[in-house]
Amino acid sequence: MKNNYFSEKYWKDPTIANKILREIFLLSKKIKKSINIMEVCGTHTMAIAASGIRDILPNNVNLISGPGCPVCVTSAGDIDRIISLSDISGDKLIITTFGDMLKVPGSGRKSLSEAKVNGADVRVVYSPMDAVKIARDNPSKEVVFVGVGFETTAPLIALTVMESVNININNFSVTPLFKLVPPALRFLLDSKIAKIDAFLLPGHVSAVIGYEPYDFLVKEYNMPGTIAGFEPLDILRGVELLLRQIESGRPGLDVEYSRAVKKEGNKVALSVMKKVYGTYDAQWRAIGPIKNSGYTLSGTYEKYDAFKKFAIKERKVEEPAGCLCGKVLLGLVKPNACHHFAKGCTPQTPIGPCMVSSEGACAAWYKYGLKR
Ligand code: SF4
Repeated sequence: MKNNYFSEKYWKDPTIANKILREIFLLSKKIKKSINIMEVCGTHTMAIAASGIRDILPNNVNLISGPGCPVCVTSAGDIDRIISLSDISGDKLIITTFGDMLKVPGSGRKSLSEAKVNGADVRVVYSPMDAVKIARDNPSKEVVFVGVGFETTAPLIALTVMESVNININNFSVTPLFKLVPPALRFLLDSKIAKIDAFLLPGHVSAVIGYEPYDFLVKEYNMPGTIAGFEPLDILRGVELLLRQIESGRPGLDVEYSRAVKKEGNKVALSVMKKVYGTYDAQWRAIGPIKNSGYTLSGTYEKYDAFKKFAIKERKVEEPAGCLCGKVLLGLVKPNACHHFAKGCTPQTPIGPCMVSSEGACAAWYKYGLKR
């Protein structure tokens, strides 16, 4: 289902956004009823907020954010397990992480950042391979990389674990907390928690997994879907394609981001993940376990699972008091419905993960929404 919109000429035409918007308004008039389009990608959430697209759409077309921010969907219990690694840190263990996990508060509002202030050896890295280098340079210490993310991050970390095996690094391990998008979509539709009329599907994840894993949306749920890129025009065009499906009464799967997404996905990334991971019922924030919705290290790679290596068991803990992050992730409330929003909870003083992550809905609303 390719479209030919994205030629060089298309990108340079300043009137194209107006043309798409006009189509969107015409379609929304024909549809009449209120339409909820859920974006299930944190990068979309940020791009929508930054470009102000939400504000220029017709009143009956709502963009609602879904569980697409990897840091935000990591359960409070799993955040606590990561932070608890700092209890065995000191001079024995080095925790390495991408920067967006540093300030995420656990149930006691302690974070990796706070653990670092209290003496734990917590280091920000820009690639998991940097963590392997730290392990190689510190053979007397254990080095853990905080592995959190979707199908986009998981292949790189799988490659890193394979490389650790190849170069015989045994003092390196990963917290395998990878989430998968299609099972989350199925959960949302089965649970009927939120009113969803269409999905704006993630471009980057789809570039890895291809578009066959979304076939069930139409076949089993008659649910319109469009895989879209991250430029404002990509998103507008994605909305237009979804409205067109709804107006025609013919739900389908459109691939607006055909310049990056192929039907079969990225075969190399998929084969690496197949070698290193197995699926498990991952815990999602405010949702709980979703069947086969996560990747964990399996087979010969299981010994690189930091939670197993250090016997850190699963935990069930309460969400931070008054934080509506779970409801925000399910598209049930907008961030400014939370009474902490922009008062007690800001990017500098986050109460929940949705305000910490660069892809969190609360952070997006705080950064861009308050201006309007
Ligand atoms: S504003 Fe803060 S406390 Fe409120 S839902 Fe968002 S992250 Fe949670």
